[in-house]
Amino acid sequence: MGIAALASELLELATKLHRLIPPRPGETQKVEQLRERRFRELLKHAAAKSPFYQRRFAGLDLETCALSDLPVLTKAEMMANLDDVFTDRALKRVDLENFMADHANIGVYYQGKYAPCHTSGSQGQPAIVVQDKHAIFTSFAAQFARGNKIKRRFLPHIGRLVNPARMVVITQRPGFYPSSTFFNYFPRVARPYIEVQQLSVFDPPDEIARRLNEFQPTFITGYTSSLEYLAREEETGKLQLKAGGKLEQMNSMSEPLPEATAARLEKTFGVHVTNSYSMAECMALSCGCPVRRGSHLNTDLAILEVVDSEYRPVPPGTPGSKVLVTNLYNLVQPIIRYEIDDIVTMSPEPCGCGNALPLVASVAGRAKDQLWIEMDGRVRDLPIYVFLAALDGDPNIGEHQVLQTGLNAFRLCAAPQPGKTLSAEHIKSLVQDSLQAEGLGGVIDLEIEIVDRILPDNAGKVRRAKNLFGPPPSEIPPNAERVIA
Ligand SMILES: [Zn+2]
Repeated sequence: MGIAALASELLELATKLHRLIPPRPGETQKVEQLRERRFRELLKHAAAKSPFYQRRFAGLDLETCALSDLPVLTKAEMMANLDDVFTDRALKRVDLENFMADHANIGVYYQGKYAPCHTSGSQGQPAIVVQDKHAIFTSFAAQFARGNKIKRRFLPHIGRLVNPARMVVITQRPGFYPSSTFFNYFPRVARPYIEVQQLSVFDPPDEIARRLNEFQPTFITGYTSSLEYLAREEETGKLQLKAGGKLEQMNSMSEPLPEATAARLEKTFGVHVTNSYSMAECMALSCGCPVRRGSHLNTDLAILEVVDSEYRPVPPGTPGSKVLVTNLYNLVQPIIRYEIDDIVTMSPEPCGCGNALPLVASVAGRAKDQLWIEMDGRVRDLPIYVFLAALDGDPNIGEHQVLQTGLNAFRLCAAPQPGKTLSAEHIKSLVQDSLQAEGLGGVIDLEIEIVDRILPDNAGKVRRAKNLFGPPPSEIPPNAERVIA
């Protein structure tokens, strides 16, 4: 890369970082104006350059229409029309698939300007998402201006940074999957300031421990299950990160972060754990609050609508059935009211940290992994906390997974912490007590399986709750409708 290109990247990054300093209370009007301007630009760009959106938006006044006037976009529709969705006619799905099939292309911009990735398909068919270089820079800048404590050194003058931060990402081996994209395309201009090491949960445990002990990272980002794995290694003394005194923050992504897990990680490592909620289609959707729990929505970069099963808005404090995501910063593949079946609850209160951006209080995982039971002829959601509350009673449990295997039938897999043993009978009695306390005694057929390890799926993630049985029958009361995928 030439000096001029590097200088222009540096300028773009520094400008973006500066603009992304979190608004304080009273400064939100500016953010709203910015969002409105970017929203109109996105609509006009999509209608002008994407044949798919040109057809969809025919007859709409894009200067004045409301967000709710626009049709919802499903993943199936997007993928069936992908070539037409792109705003650059040079982009073709088949070429992108060929490009991503060759691992030598990891970290290479396609046609010099596009970063493609694909989702794992563990939630149905895989989606392909193409971001342009500006979108990658925006995601990166948002993370560092809003998500990490590093901002106090990184801002306002990027060049003043003297001690480079060391960041570890522990997910899976580099590939074209979304969480890798961020690191594959880590802006070159930022590399002198932030040293990155990428580890995989599939690496040998001894190698992970050796590399981490040597590197002594300032930040660790990973799937919740990967961070839990590190906590167990730290507890046995194999990892020495707390003693090293360099670690400042951990960030969990891609999987929900239960409160008990966050508390355990914080106790083990002595640092704050943030959780960010984002997806391939909108990587800069939110940034984990660096002080409190939850994740701040980047409302100048994206719009998140929390809705019920009929697409009606759901107020803060109430869990929705799904969300509709609009990405305001990636113009090459417009994502407008894109439907994702995440159960999201927005906080009804502003966050105590002083950042005025709205707070995502919780993300309860994908609706199709919701557990459910039939009781007195009615279908009801079964919240995973009835199991989690029981598991707190056994300090020897390392990892767990709850599977719905049939109608009112569940299997709880539990793995002990290193050097400890578990009793299936003991765990079963703890869970039975918890179920009894919830008024579910005798309703559930429960099987306990003691395993060595809960294996991640082929995307490297561990799902705490997995529904192997399927959604409930179609004749269900309205309060349970949201479990249908
Ligand atoms: Zn906050």
